[in-house]
Amino acid sequence: MESFDVAVIGGGNAALCAAIAAYENGASVVVLERAPKEHRGGNSAFTGGAFRIAYRGVDDLLTLVPDLHPDEISNSDFGTYDEDQFFEEVIAMSGYRADADVLETVVSQSLPTMQWLRQHGVRFMPIYGRQSFKVDGKQKFWGGLTVEVSGGGLGLMERLYAKAEQLNMDLRYDARATALSREGDAWIIESATGHAKTSIRAKSVILATGGYHANVLWRAKYLGPNWDLAKVRGSRYNTGDGISLALDAGATPHGNWTGCHAVFYDLNAPPFGDINLLNQQKNYFTLGIVVNADGKRFVDEGLDFRNYTYSGMGARVLAQPGAVAWQIFDAKSIDLLPDEYRVKHATRITADTLEELAARLDGINQRAFLQTVQDYNRSIDQAVPFNPAVKDGRSTAGLSIPKSNWANPIDTGPFVAYAVTCGITCTYAGVKVNTQGQVLDDSDHALPGLYAAGEMVGGLYYVKYAGGVGLTAGSVLGRISGKHAATHAGSVPPAV
Ligand SMILES: Cc1cc2nc3c(=O)[nH]c(=O)nc-3n(C[C@H](O)[C@H](O)[C@H](O)COP(=O)(O)OP(=O)(O)OC[C@H]3O[C@@H](n4cnc5c(N)ncnc54)[C@H](O)[C@@H]3O)c2cc1C
Repeated sequence: MESFDVAVIGGGNAALCAAIAAYENGASVVVLERAPKEHRGGNSAFTGGAFRIAYRGVDDLLTLVPDLHPDEISNSDFGTYDEDQFFEEVIAMSGYRADADVLETVVSQSLPTMQWLRQHGVRFMPIYGRQSFKVDGKQKFWGGLTVEVSGGGLGLMERLYAKAEQLNMDLRYDARATALSREGDAWIIESATGHAKTSIRAKSVILATGGYHANVLWRAKYLGPNWDLAKVRGSRYNTGDGISLALDAGATPHGNWTGCHAVFYDLNAPPFGDINLLNQQKNYFTLGIVVNADGKRFVDEGLDFRNYTYSGMGARVLAQPGAVAWQIFDAKSIDLLPDEYRVKHATRITADTLEELAARLDGINQRAFLQTVQDYNRSIDQAVPFNPAVKDGRSTAGLSIPKSNWANPIDTGPFVAYAVTCGITCTYAGVKVNTQGQVLDDSDHALPGLYAAGEMVGGLYYVKYAGGVGLTAGSVLGRISGKHAATHAGSVPPAV
């Protein structure tokens, strides 16, 4: 049987960060990726590549984006997003349930870990297109999310795989881990490629197989009614395998098992993520209104920046008649919409008048829809100036469901509607880990040599999710667990 110091199960961001860190710390490493090579990279490959990091100002950002042009610096207001703010926002969004020590590690290591990624070839840039608006002549960033990977999630995974290949790492595709057992002081991992089965031995194992969003039975079982109807935004290979393997090995289930991240998603998107048809999410509902088939609004579209509300919108639309809704914009807001609204494959319906638009929204109660728009338009206090880069307080008054910010009348043609349903991004539960990424049992004892990182770690997100934490948490805990796993295996870092 082949033996390794560290076996990494999974092939996304968390897995590759873990594998590279383990290798750097002297370990022999094998990576088992369930997907075939052409679909490697898990959900991470589907991401926009946005990382949430704590930074004190432009000098910190320059360590990630040293090639920022002086004109870009003088024309941008990057603001600050310090560690306290990052920690407080995420823990508050979890209802103060998140594992504080693990979250603190993610926050404090966010910038150094991104700097480490940069050393390994990942390139970052400011998210001008999606996270800033022009205010008083400057691009003002909002929502604590300021940098993304050049090339998005695909760019991230290409860079990480290029690094792993450069290190001659043993990367195995079509290799689905199916069983994990303890033998002496090592783990035995069984994996299957089609009908062929292989066993390997490793002193440390890092599980990074993502959550269970692509497991239709688990979705119905844990998330509840109708979740079998959700479309999967990303990888079809994340069916909870690593969670099962860890639970069978003695890990304790942890986190929000009935919680997931799910967004407004194109009604006609394919059932699983397709890397050639990205940008099916429709997250800038903050700039318009959203109506259901009864012609009624059902959310406060302007409650907060979209980064803090978008992850719950999938559940909201799933609860509407037919699990369908339409986002409505008029000529005044169309130009503010980002790329995800401009892709060719969007289900976009346009009309010069609201009456024509109503007639084209398949299955909507047209009269109720027109009444909703009229009531909404009349309820806005237009004395308050519109400013999409801050919570502007330009709100409605007297509606049963308010719009708390960014309320603009929908009154100027042409009008455009985007038909949406629920797209599930990832799930919130999995196993419990400590700040070293070690998997814990139900007495909080570490299982020797067993680690987890990424989406399959429970206890960070409850009910809500702050955009950009997933990649950051995966990289931070992946890197830490890789180092710890190498040390556990007795590996000695090479002399530099
Ligand atoms: C469309 C989309 C956009 C997103 N945008 C962002 C963003 O901009 N910023 C952000 O922070 N987060 C974003 N997310 C969330 C983000 O994808 C995740 O938080 C993060 O990528 C998870 O990384 P991971 O390594 O844990 O899992 P993944 O990247 O999903 O990797 C899991 C891996 O495990 C493999 N695997 C599964 N089962 C097995 C098995 N039995 N054996 C071997 N391998 C197995 C899979 O094939 C896959 O390679 C987005 C998600 C989606 C779907």
